[in-house]
Amino acid sequence: MLLSVENVHKRFGGLVALQDVTVGMDEGRIFGLIGPNGSGKTTLVNIISGFLRPTSGRIVFDGREIQAEPPHRIARAGLCRTFQITLNPARMTVMENMLLGAKQQTGEQVLRGALHPMAVRREEAANLQRAWELLEMVNLHHHADEFAGSLSGGQKKLLALVQILMAEPRLILLDEPVAGVNPRLIDDIVDVIFRLREAGHSFFIIEHNMGVVRRLCDRICVLDMGQVLAEGAPDDVLAREEVLQAYLAAGGDVEDA
Ligand code: ADP
Ligand code: MG
Repeated sequence: MLLSVENVHKRFGGLVALQDVTVGMDEGRIFGLIGPNGSGKTTLVNIISGFLRPTSGRIVFDGREIQAEPPHRIARAGLCRTFQITLNPARMTVMENMLLGAKQQTGEQVLRGALHPMAVRREEAANLQRAWELLEMVNLHHHADEFAGSLSGGQKKLLALVQILMAEPRLILLDEPVAGVNPRLIDDIVDVIFRLREAGHSFFIIEHNMGVVRRLCDRICVLDMGQVLAEGAPDDVLAREEVLQAYLAAGGDVEDA
């Protein structure tokens, strides 16, 4: 198993945000985390990515316990995330943003850079090449030299997605990848995620758009009031009475959640 969340509890003062949550996913899959507002999704993602510590329980990524690691160590181990609100530095070009996402560069270690200038140049060339290919995949290569701030909202989401890939992650955590994106661009984003999965990438996705969840995810887990309510194939899980009830009780509908 690539990622395993084991008996995780999280309390904020007197409030129990997560209670004995156990979920896991295999490599090469798209795993979806859904649930009504306030059910604990963001809290769980913050714990997995190291921005919060669980009150108790374990997170095992690629065979290694990470629940006590800080975010940058977890990212370096290959578990990278996007945020619900994407913030690419607006006054940098699209290409500069991409290169910013690249893995630890040899040139950053001054001594190594001085001793191995050819190695540094090769690495930079390889990063440029990879950045260009990724931009081509999401059709942003024509905008490579424009400021990231001039892109549309949907294009910024696509940029955030491919920028993460510059770090060559083992698992990509996406927090609502299609929120606030127009329907045509939603199809583009779904298509890109599928192609990346075909190329062997793994995704852990929080998503409110149920159509997208059905199309994308191999398995989903439903959180309700901090507990796992159901887990399995999307069509099975979304048809369960207790899942519909949970969304209705939270004042929403499973179709427009
Ligand atoms: P979701 O992302 O599913 O909407 P959250 O994980 O944001 O849910 O929140 C789960 C519960 O934990 C909510 O009741 C929320 O108010 C509470 N909560 C989240 N973060 C904090 C915090 N930093 N301090 C106190 N309570 C929090
Ligand atoms: Mg949330």
